[in-house]
Amino acid sequence: MTPSRDRDRLADWDRTFLWHPFTQMKEWEREQPVIIERGKGSYVIDTEGRRYLDGVSSLWVNVHGHRHPRLDRALRAQLSRIAHSTLLGLSNPPAIRLARELVRLAPAGLTKVFYSDNGSTAVEIALKMAVQYWRQRRPKAGPKRTFLRLQLAYHGDTVGAMSVGGIDLFRDRFRPLLFPTVAAEPPYCYRCPLRLTYPSCAMACLDPVERILKRRHRALAGVIIEPLVQAAAGMLLAPPGYLARMRELCTKYQVLLIADEVATGFGRTGRMFACAHEGVTPDLMAVSKGLTGGYLPLAATLATEDIYQAFLGDYAEWKTFFHGHSYTGNPLGCAVALANLEVFRKERTLARMQPRITALRRFLQPLSTLSHVGEIRQRGYMVGIELVTDRATRTPYPPTERIGHRVTREARRRGMLIRPLGHVVVLMPPLSVTTAELARMVTILRESIRTVTEASS
Ligand SMILES: *Cc1c(COP(=O)(O)O)cnc(C)c1O
Repeated sequence: MTPSRDRDRLADWDRTFLWHPFTQMKEWEREQPVIIERGKGSYVIDTEGRRYLDGVSSLWVNVHGHRHPRLDRALRAQLSRIAHSTLLGLSNPPAIRLARELVRLAPAGLTKVFYSDNGSTAVEIALKMAVQYWRQRRPKAGPKRTFLRLQLAYHGDTVGAMSVGGIDLFRDRFRPLLFPTVAAEPPYCYRCPLRLTYPSCAMACLDPVERILKRRHRALAGVIIEPLVQAAAGMLLAPPGYLARMRELCTKYQVLLIADEVATGFGRTGRMFACAHEGVTPDLMAVSKGLTGGYLPLAATLATEDIYQAFLGDYAEWKTFFHGHSYTGNPLGCAVALANLEVFRKERTLARMQPRITALRRFLQPLSTLSHVGEIRQRGYMVGIELVTDRATRTPYPPTERIGHRVTREARRRGMLIRPLGHVVVLMPPLSVTTAELARMVTILRESIRTVTEASS
């Protein structure tokens, strides 16, 4: 615990010097910031010594809990050797070993690993690789340089990643900067734009996708999707078979399938990667968030052998992939990522979470009777609860009501940190969470939703 004088000073300095992401700073400046000082397992602890359940895994990154001994140790061990060296013209042991591990765990057929620092850059790299791939693979076929994307998709905040994103609130004012793309409706079964119901719909939402591919495949370098769960959209779940069908369509029309596993990767859906649920191998796959267990910023773009081969040639053929970052393949990040993957093996993380996924479903079930809960969406440890003003008409709360925000504030008061996505409340616990902690998280969630929605109705 920090002495109260230091605490006040930190809060002052925060307001004086910091600009927080996705934050209206005018509002922030009026508030007392929660300053997180420590963490242990599923808990984080602030400078006043208050303990909070980490209900969103520190923004979807933490995997095995805070301060896992094996991850702490791996980081210290690497620190005693070297903190950073470059991958431009050199290599380093953790980067090499991690690439081998990733290829081993990734969907079969992804054979090469290109490092970067965060989810957005991993996506940018996939986009650039896709465009350059087609230039070099089929130079005479004309440019394949645009992308098919889904509405409500989120792929990051850099300009390329925004271009293939679909959340208007984040991208609208930057429209002049974005490159042109082709958009299709996502599978949002609760509010199906076609007013159909799965499975009798036979995934009719993929018909427009096929029509676009049929008509535009000569101009399309790739289709980018978040496999199984459109996370930032509010945990939208694709119906079973959607991803596999998308793979078939991409193969049929010779367009690359880019899987953005930044949110879904590393066990969050109950398998190591979401693509594994449907036996799908994408052509390019972006990973980041859980890669280092939530310890350090690191990302990777995995590519198939076919894509990699298209970049080989004599130097003066200029087939090199001219892309790289100062911290590409950072040894500290790679060392802790290796330890992260080792824990999956040693602790049988994925096997052990299966009964708890079922328990979480059981705990969540009763919330569906609350008068303002429209839909509960769960895939593994990814949960979104969509709040509505009226369950019968499924009327969404107006954005100005900030219903999600208010629920998460209430949850914080009750000892759990979570983040909303508009009118969707998100729960995404670390994979190491215990059944008792899950029960506690859901109790806080239920009480917070009740307190806020039943007071405002
Ligand atoms: C978070 C996220 C990103 C962006 O990752 P950053 O590390 O925040 O740049 C990209 N895609 C998906 C699916 C994400 O959830």
